[in-house]
Amino acid sequence: MAKKVLVLGELRDGSLRNVSFEAIAAGKKIAEGGEVAAVLIGDSIKSQADAMIHYGADRVIVVEDEQLKHYTPDGFSQAFMAVCNEEIPDAIVFGHTSLGKDLSPKIASKLNTGLVSDVTDIEEGDDGFVFTRPIYSGKAFEKKVIIDGITFITVRPNNIEPLEKDESRSGEVQSIAAEIKDLRTIVKEVITKASEGVDLSEAKVIVAGGRGVKSAEGFEPLKELAEVLGGAVGASRGACDADYCDYSLQIGQTGKVVTPDLYIACGISGAIQHLAGMSNSKVIVAINKDPEANIFNVADYGIVGDLFEAVPLLTEEFRKLKT
Ligand code: FAD
Repeated sequence: MAKKVLVLGELRDGSLRNVSFEAIAAGKKIAEGGEVAAVLIGDSIKSQADAMIHYGADRVIVVEDEQLKHYTPDGFSQAFMAVCNEEIPDAIVFGHTSLGKDLSPKIASKLNTGLVSDVTDIEEGDDGFVFTRPIYSGKAFEKKVIIDGITFITVRPNNIEPLEKDESRSGEVQSIAAEIKDLRTIVKEVITKASEGVDLSEAKVIVAGGRGVKSAEGFEPLKELAEVLGGAVGASRGACDADYCDYSLQIGQTGKVVTPDLYIACGISGAIQHLAGMSNSKVIVAINKDPEANIFNVADYGIVGDLFEAVPLLTEEFRKLKT
């Protein structure tokens, strides 16, 4: 049955995050030939609407208000609910990002419906769509079917392939007025940490360093390799605790959960809490001096050796491939 699907487009520093396009692809599948309407919430963001259409949205609904310049739970839930009340969707898709994780349960509770979060795959089953999601920190996967109410899911970044960009697509862009009031939190200023390059949670390649990197300077060869591969630098908590890098780079149970195409772990022992954040990466390469290190148990390829020798060699070889 054709469905009407609402997909939230998420912006960072004024540009759409890639997970927004992945959410459209998920929405298209669930819509079964119905309409996918993208929702953009913010202040002066209409210019981003075309990109959502180029990636497959049939229509874009924009909610603009100066109080929506920065994400607040109250502001964004009021804005999204204004769209829901007007559109009465059959399904909703958000990205499983910090924003999506915060906003989706609020919306689900306001709509009195369920939510399947952190979806990594969508298949058609006998009783409707089957949504796959990791459980037990990625050690197992469960499959869920929604039998009643709105089909509401969040999709994990880097798991659902976006549709091919088609700049010849066109669609209606409409504005909806929402009454944004009684905000309990007001963001006065956003102080961004100096982070270079690719966003860690959406990176296709991650070069991560652990305590074996030994110092902040020890991260330099990893940064070079990440740059050559067009990837991002990540870290274990061991490296963050030792002050070799910022906690924003931490991957694991209490850090970021990532699923890049390629994860290169350098000087990381492979503690269970670290594996919780990266073991679902498509290809894992481990570089460690200790042949017994646990990281080799999840690695597809292993290099037993000194990372300060192996990493520059890899960088050199990948550089040659690029030229
Ligand atoms: P280590 O375990 O010290 O490993 C360093 C590795 O580097 C060793 O295997 C060593 O052989 C190798 N090495 C040393 N020198 C070289 C060299 N020159 N070349 C190659 N290899 C070398 N950890 C996380 O990462 N993320 C989390 O989110 C997280 N959450 C946690 C939550 C809780 C509640 C707890 C209790 C712990 C958590 N931890 C987390 C910490 C986790 O248990 C480990 O302590 C941490 O992951 C270890 O980091 P590491 O692998 O960098 O360091």
